[in-house]
Amino acid sequence: MQDLVTSSIPDSLDAFWMPFTANRQFKSQPRLMASAKGMYYTTVDDRQVLDGTAGLWCVNAGHCREKIIAAIQTQAATLDFAPTFQMGHPAPFALADRLAKMLPGDLNHVFFANSGSEAVDSALKIALAYHRVRGEGSRTRLIGRERGYHGVGFGGISVGGIAPNRKSFGSLLPGVDHLPHTHNLERNAFTRGQPQWGAHLADELERLVTLHDASTIAAVIVEPVAGSTGVLVPPQGYLERLRSICDRHGILLIFDEVITGFGRLGKGFATDYFGVIPDLMTVAKGITNAAVPMGAVFVRDGIYDAFMHGAENAIELSHGYTYSGHPLACAAAQATLDIYEEEGLFDRANSLSSYWEDAVHSLEGLPHVIDIRNLGLVAGIELESIPNQVGSRAYDCLVRCFENGLLVRTAGDIIALSPPLIIEKQHIDQIVEMLGLVLKDLA
Ligand code: PMP
Repeated sequence: MQDLVTSSIPDSLDAFWMPFTANRQFKSQPRLMASAKGMYYTTVDDRQVLDGTAGLWCVNAGHCREKIIAAIQTQAATLDFAPTFQMGHPAPFALADRLAKMLPGDLNHVFFANSGSEAVDSALKIALAYHRVRGEGSRTRLIGRERGYHGVGFGGISVGGIAPNRKSFGSLLPGVDHLPHTHNLERNAFTRGQPQWGAHLADELERLVTLHDASTIAAVIVEPVAGSTGVLVPPQGYLERLRSICDRHGILLIFDEVITGFGRLGKGFATDYFGVIPDLMTVAKGITNAAVPMGAVFVRDGIYDAFMHGAENAIELSHGYTYSGHPLACAAAQATLDIYEEEGLFDRANSLSSYWEDAVHSLEGLPHVIDIRNLGLVAGIELESIPNQVGSRAYDCLVRCFENGLLVRTAGDIIALSPPLIIEKQHIDQIVEMLGLVLKDLA
């Protein structure tokens, strides 16, 4: 029988088709983690690696937290699974109630999914169905943004703005437009926090309204801070402007907070940080500290209520997943929220953010560094690309960091950092020192 925990190197790495990875390159030089605790991974060859990315932007409370482990174990031994179709169990009701109390405004209803991608596709479908139940079925257009990442469902890649994710799969959803992204190196390079220039880029939504008519547009989806495309911080006033244009034209605003949710910016959610409340909001990752997969869509009262008319025995929304509100995910989420609260991790992220900002900006001036941007406990360091080899410089950096004991993530030639919120100042110093040495060495 296979060991209960698989941490030794298998004979072959061939069968697992790795996601978003150059399989052949990786398998010729694998980087395998065996265990994790707090701020560190331990590799299969027993090296400690400081986690500069909270796994994949998700382990916000640090690794292998006892409380979460215990909650999952107890739940698995008590109620492993119960359907939430025509049946239920208390856990998702209790969790939704707790989450609703954390959220601003009337974002009081929660639809559960199992990942960020599922949360996004659920949000898009809820937006489309909402207009239909109100008799505005002509509102079918969805608007995303260039350089937006909204997961990999067909909805998510259609509204997403990452060319390679779109190009491989044919025609995608019809009736989708994209706002321009807000990244501008000439105007905003090395800005600390939110750039001043660029709020007017939200006005492109007015142009799309003029072009298509508001009566055809269902929703706009943006990440408040774009993460996976290299930490693009919204210009001051940009999100406010999007909100007011949406209000003016009856267009729903969806915030994809899969990365920004649960403390990344030093507040519960980006909606708290920016003071702009969307109509729908997607989360995943930090909701369970990544210990069990879970995604969710938060929905405002008015949207939920619009579905609650009609015959009482009619299904209001023909959508859902076998594992919506899975008991183990709910248990992990409750324990995770306890830790966030007990340890004040969102405030902690907030109070460390200026130290973090100074630290990451100290890398300015190193070879090939053409921009550094930050907000909360997230940062992007953009390197000049080698002609015809986009991404290779940052990847080289990732490999060297890993060899030196630091986990970073890259998007093209941007190095992204998003450490667990339990990080100490000494870890911040280590991250910047290791990265600095590697960058100097790259030269
Ligand atoms: N939306 C955003 C903003 C994300 O960052 C991600 C994942 N990085 C997703 C959606 C997709 O989440 P998942 O990989 O869990 O499907």
